[in-house]
Amino acid sequence: MFKAILIEKDEAGYRAAVRELDDAALPAGDVTVRVAYSTLNYKDGLAITGKSPVVRKFPMVPGIDLAGTVESSSHPDYQAGDAVVLNGWGVGETHWGGLAQRARLSGDWLVPLPAAFTPAQAMAIGTAGYTAMLCVLALERHGVTPAHGPVVVTGAAGGVGSVAVALLAKLGFSVAAVTGRPQEADYLRSLGASEVLERAELSAPGKPLAKERWAGAVDTVGSHTLANVCAQMKYRGVVTACGLAGGMELPATVAPFILRGVTLAGIDSVMCPRPERLQAWQRLAADLDLARLGRMAHEITLDEALPTAAALLAGQVRGRVVVDVNR
Ligand code: NDP
Repeated sequence: MFKAILIEKDEAGYRAAVRELDDAALPAGDVTVRVAYSTLNYKDGLAITGKSPVVRKFPMVPGIDLAGTVESSSHPDYQAGDAVVLNGWGVGETHWGGLAQRARLSGDWLVPLPAAFTPAQAMAIGTAGYTAMLCVLALERHGVTPAHGPVVVTGAAGGVGSVAVALLAKLGFSVAAVTGRPQEADYLRSLGASEVLERAELSAPGKPLAKERWAGAVDTVGSHTLANVCAQMKYRGVVTACGLAGGMELPATVAPFILRGVTLAGIDSVMCPRPERLQAWQRLAADLDLARLGRMAHEITLDEALPTAAALLAGQVRGRVVVDVNR
C-alpha cells in the first residue's frame, strides 16, 4: 500500500483527497519509482481544485513532477537504486503522477537526478524551474545577451518567475521583476532583480507600440500583460511566452513583430524533446544559485498540498513549494 492524492470525478462531483492505494492499482510502465519529493506547480493547482480540465482520466493521481529512487525497472537505462527526476509528459494529467509515495512510468520519460541537486532541490526547481530554464535557453538561442539591455519577468514572485529572475540575474542580465505583490519586492531583489515593477503597469489594455524598454522577456501571465510586454520590446527583442496566470487570450497587434522585428517564442515543457530537457537540467546545475533556490522554496506535507493548491491559484504562494510525500 502507498499514500497518494487521488482525484475522483463522478455523480458525487469532483474531489481530491489523500488516500491509501494498493500497488496493484498502479498504471502500466517499465519503471517503478519510490517517490521522495514532489511539488506543486500551477497545473497541479488546477488539477487538484478542478478549476480547469487538466485531468483527462479518472481516478487520477496528480503531480506533474517527482524525484525519487528506482525500485524496479525493465528499462535498459535504469536499474534499482538509480536517482531520477520526472517532469511532464502528461504525468499527473493522463498518467498517475508524483503526488504519491510510489509511481510507475515509462523509463523514456525519466531524467537522471543531476549530481548537483538533492531530490528536494530538484523538486524546488520542478517543472516551473525547468520551464524558466527553457525560456532562458530560448532567449540565448535567439541571441539575447546582457549587452542588449534589460529583461523583464512577469508573475515574478511565482514559481517560474522566481527561478527565471534568479537565473537571468546570475547570467549577468539586468532583471525587472513584475509583481502584483509589492510586499515581495525585497524577496525579488534578494533573487537578483534590479528593478521591481507593479503588475498594474502591464495588466491593463495598452497601445500597440510603447517606449522601447526590454531586450528579452519571460512572460508567465499572458493576456494584456503579454501584449504590453510585446509592445515595450526593443528593436529585435525576444519574448518567451510560457504561461497564462492572467488569462489565455492574447489581445495584441502585429505592430511589434512587423515594425520592430520582435520575436515571440512559445515555450512548452510537457512534450519538450529529451535532449533539450537534459540540456536544461545541465544548465540549471551550472547556473542556478542554490542559496537563492533555498530562499524561494518551502516544504509541505502531502495533506497540506490540498489547501496549498487553492492558495497557489489565488496567487498567494511565493516561489516554489516542495511536497514531502512521506510526511
Ligand atoms: P505560480 O502560481 O507559482 O505563479 C504565477 C504568478 O503569476 C503568481 O505568483 C503571480 O505573480 C502571477 N499572477 C497570478 N495571477 C495573476 C493575474 N490574474 N494577473 C497577473 N499576474 C498574475 O505558477 P507557476 O509559476 O507554476 O506557473 C506560472 C504560469 O506558467 C502558469 O500559467 C503555468 O500554467 C505556466 N507554466 C507553463 C509551462 C509550460 O510548459 N509552458 C510550465 C510551467 C508553468 P505575482 O504575485 O508576482 O504577480
